Amino acid sequence: MIRLVHGAATHLGLVRRQNEDSFVATDGLYAVCDGMGGARAGEVASEAACRILVDLPMGAGAEDLRQAVTEANTVIRERSLADKALAGMGTTLTAATALGPRLTLAQVGDSRAYLWRGGSLRQVTQDHSLVAEMIRQGQLTPEQAAVHPHRSIITRALGTEASVVPDIFDLPLEVGDRVLLCSDGLSGMVSNKELARIAGSGTHPQEVADALVAAALRHGGEDNVTVVVIFAVEGEGDEPAADGSAATAPTAPTAPADPTETPSPRPDPHDASDSSSPSEDDATARRSRMGDGDAPPDTPSAEPVAGFDGFGPLVRTSNGTSSARRRPSRRTVLIGLAVLAAVLALAFGAFLAFNSTVYFVGTTEGQVALFQGMPYSVVGIDLYSAVLVVPVRFDALDTYLQARVDAHELVTKEEGLRFIRGLQTPQ
Ligand code: CA
Repeated sequence: MIRLVHGAATHLGLVRRQNEDSFVATDGLYAVCDGMGGARAGEVASEAACRILVDLPMGAGAEDLRQAVTEANTVIRERSLADKALAGMGTTLTAATALGPRLTLAQVGDSRAYLWRGGSLRQVTQDHSLVAEMIRQGQLTPEQAAVHPHRSIITRALGTEASVVPDIFDLPLEVGDRVLLCSDGLSGMVSNKELARIAGSGTHPQEVADALVAAALRHGGEDNVTVVVIFAVEGEGDEPAADGSAATAPTAPTAPADPTETPSPRPDPHDASDSSSPSEDDATARRSRMGDGDAPPDTPSAEPVAGFDGFGPLVRTSNGTSSARRRPSRRTVLIGLAVLAAVLALAFGAFLAFNSTVYFVGTTEGQVALFQGMPYSVVGIDLYSAVLVVPVRFDALDTYLQARVDAHELVTKEEGLRFIRGLQTPQ
């Protein structure tokens, strides 16, 4: 009889200011979602996906997972279309449900699942990424892909298209197996060899999860890093295994972005898979426990804050606001403001001059177009305008070209025109 125990860890990393990863690690349901989008949109997307997953019933199978993925796609897309601040958001999803001695996995994007068995580690998901497709087509080696400038472009995501097709498959487990689900903040920072070594170390999945995150940080922590670790152990019922391998880690669903929403921990009336009990599934659980969140990496872990909105209190803490600061005289303030205004005017002028020299390819109302400016909006004002719309539907492009268009890479006008004309040429 196989019993599954789990552990999980997430970290902001050493470079990013926000953790846009979300995860679920609860009895029989595991997931890692890596959000993308401006401002806090990525976090909203990854978390929305996890929230839908936690509503799955125990023992959910392939069809339930497929439906959850479809629902998550719709929910994220509708929110991104309805709210300008969330426009274009999306998320990866690598999810697994357990039923007896096997996992059923759903995969969209470039987060990964690995199986460690008998000392070797195998990636069991396929990345839906530009470089992975180029590897499959023989255009890149894995080594070249690891350092490719476009390695973060994904070709499938939740929320970015009207529909999405997940890879769904079963993974039969044996006693002794270990499964990792992770975001690219782990797989992109730590070599396969080291992943395999750490995956096989330790006696408890939480130990392995913590060690994997520590390794990603040691190698630079360039991205948010999240990992869920599952051990298949001998046994049944709720008793911890003799080796202490029962999961004791709190493995809450992810922190909600919206403090008015209440988290919906998954009811688990048929819980028999391990002895862990999510003891922290409130809004602050993940961040406070992991000591990450929005604070800079050197900020001490935040204590749970009542009414914590995921941003304000941590910023205040990290700034260490001092009330003893000397108050400047009014004259100093006026002179200071005049100088600041002049500096801002100069900077703004320089910015406008720069902004008029850059272009990017994107879409407007479903048609491919060349835009002048940068692909951002600031306080509701677009920093770009379409200069040429061509009669090419974005939907009609293959995934490679869609990814190129979606990348919104800054180019010169000539480069943009060349690309866009290439699209019009019959292939
Ligand atoms: Ca990532």
